[in-house]
Amino acid sequence: MTNATQAVFFYTQKYREFDYGPSHPMKIRRLTHTHDLIHAYGLFHSAHTRLADVPTATEDELRRIHTKEYLDVLRAASAGVSVPRSWHFGLGTSDNPIFEGVYAWSTLLTGASLEAARLLAAGETPRAFNIAGGLHHAASGRASGFCYINDAAVAIRLLIDHGLRVAYVDIDAHHGDGVQDAFYDTDQVLTISLHETGLTLFPGTGFPEEIGTGKGEGFSVNVPLAPETDDEIFIWAFEETVPPLLETFRPDVVVTQLGIDAHRSDPLSHLRLTMQGFLRAVAILAESAPRWLALGGGGYHLGNVPRAWTAVWALMAGIEVGPELPAAFLPQFRAEGCTETSLADAPYRTEGPRKEEAWHYARTQVGRVQELVFPRLGVRR
Ligand SMILES: [Zn+2]
Repeated sequence: MTNATQAVFFYTQKYREFDYGPSHPMKIRRLTHTHDLIHAYGLFHSAHTRLADVPTATEDELRRIHTKEYLDVLRAASAGVSVPRSWHFGLGTSDNPIFEGVYAWSTLLTGASLEAARLLAAGETPRAFNIAGGLHHAASGRASGFCYINDAAVAIRLLIDHGLRVAYVDIDAHHGDGVQDAFYDTDQVLTISLHETGLTLFPGTGFPEEIGTGKGEGFSVNVPLAPETDDEIFIWAFEETVPPLLETFRPDVVVTQLGIDAHRSDPLSHLRLTMQGFLRAVAILAESAPRWLALGGGGYHLGNVPRAWTAVWALMAGIEVGPELPAAFLPQFRAEGCTETSLADAPYRTEGPRKEEAWHYARTQVGRVQELVFPRLGVRR
């Protein structure tokens, strides 16, 4: 066991072939920058980790979550066929443009999540990271919020087909609605999402009252947070909910969606996390995951995504890295207009009445979760 693989990272240069368009906030090249920063740190050279290529998911695999009608429309649209009423499937909107190869892009990133799930299920590695995954908004029959195929749901389905208990924890700034909906009526998957409240941010859902239905009652958990929520409030809300839920549910696999759009410099959300707050939550997840499938997610500031997911990969691989970004990486970072020089951020705290409001909202929402969900799952406090 001395050379057993401890963590697998998925990446392909094929990602470079796809583009949502010049004015779209989702920049696929953030994945290339992440890969390149990890490479510059020398983090792919450990004997205990592996850099894996990305297979393409098959239609049969996608059909475990998505409807045939939707997949047919997505494939046709991707090939340039004009599809009537494409908006009915969430396609051709400013959020979800039909760009060349969108189907191939989606099957690649989903293939990575599936292969990661297969390796975890087979016991070939305890940890795997698909930075292209975590497209948590896609619904069974429509695209939503920059997401066409819900790779997280497809991978979780594979894991539960192997008889594994799965906890899904989503710390993206947006509610993980697509994953919640896919498993809303089952007790095999516990979904937990911490996010900016739907009162101020897309998709407008994710309140504590959304607890699941039927056998799934109590297995959907939502912790909405107010604009201006900083590290202190976020970590408090996280620690009050996630560790006790995971300790009670005892998952075989923890699937994490690690969007970095809750960062204070992200242009799409109003949360105010720093890299340190984000990584504190990730470190707690790492401790509570017997097997860990990490997925990327949102993140619309090019200066944040490579730093965040490089730090996550170092944590998964168990390698200490210095905060200073390697000189070899800086030119390509500068070319994007990014001025960050460290993995860490300057400390930040929200102050004044905005802080009090954010605290009040967090306390109220966490209280609702503990009242509605904890007794149903038998969580002791
Ligand atoms: Zn997001």
